[in-house]
Amino acid sequence: MKKNYIIANWKMNLDMMSLKIFFNHFKFDEIDTNKKKIIFSPSFVFIQKTIELIGSNDAQVAGQNLFWEPKGAFTGEISAKQLTDMGCEYVIVGHSERREIFKETDEMINIKIKVALQHKLKPILCLGENYEEKEQGLTKKIIERKLSICLNEIPAGEMRHVIIAYEPVWAICTNIHNTGQSDTPESAQVVHKFIRKNIAGLYNLVVAEKIPVIYGGSVNPDNVNGFSKMDDINGVLVGGASKEASSFQKLISNYFI
Ligand code: PEP
Repeated sequence: MKKNYIIANWKMNLDMMSLKIFFNHFKFDEIDTNKKKIIFSPSFVFIQKTIELIGSNDAQVAGQNLFWEPKGAFTGEISAKQLTDMGCEYVIVGHSERREIFKETDEMINIKIKVALQHKLKPILCLGENYEEKEQGLTKKIIERKLSICLNEIPAGEMRHVIIAYEPVWAICTNIHNTGQSDTPESAQVVHKFIRKNIAGLYNLVVAEKIPVIYGGSVNPDNVNGFSKMDDINGVLVGGASKEASSFQKLISNYFI
């Protein structure tokens, strides 16, 4: 059985005090790490502190973004090497907030993935349709296009380091179209299967079978179990419900029961 990923995307939340409170309450010893891989994605400034607070426990850290240049006059940006120097193993790329607010395109995301992989950082590629695209029945078309551009020229051999996060933008808690509703596990499963089929087309069946495809969008302790039961869902990316230790802990324990 494949290990499933449970990833906390803390976005621009948590300060020093709340980070310490989180890890004071979070119980690593309650997690079955044979089945679940836990990843925390804090703001850049708290990467080091998060790693320190994880200590010898079995969890990894992801950057929330990276810039493709190795160094230079790019005020406010962070390079892949700076992330690995800090101890990150993963990096989120193409989150819908980066796409919407900071105007990141699929072509830019493709460069970021290449640079991440060159530095042995495992990219967590986020993609999904927005509300209008869903209403127009364009979900599959959008996914197909994003996959082909974001993964352009990424060799099959590198794909074992890539995670895909299907995040329907309208289902993300903070999105204006979200009513607090996630996608249903069943309809997310259809898209996950479609993603896998596309990966098989772009690469081959082995890559498609092995790649983790995780779901994100209003996942909480009450609905997470449904997602964990779907054949093509290999984990979850969690925003709002990961900010407090009690809620994230419950979500982790409710995954696979
Ligand atoms: C996200 O933004 O990646 C996310 C999944 O957020 P939320 O869980 O709050 O919908």
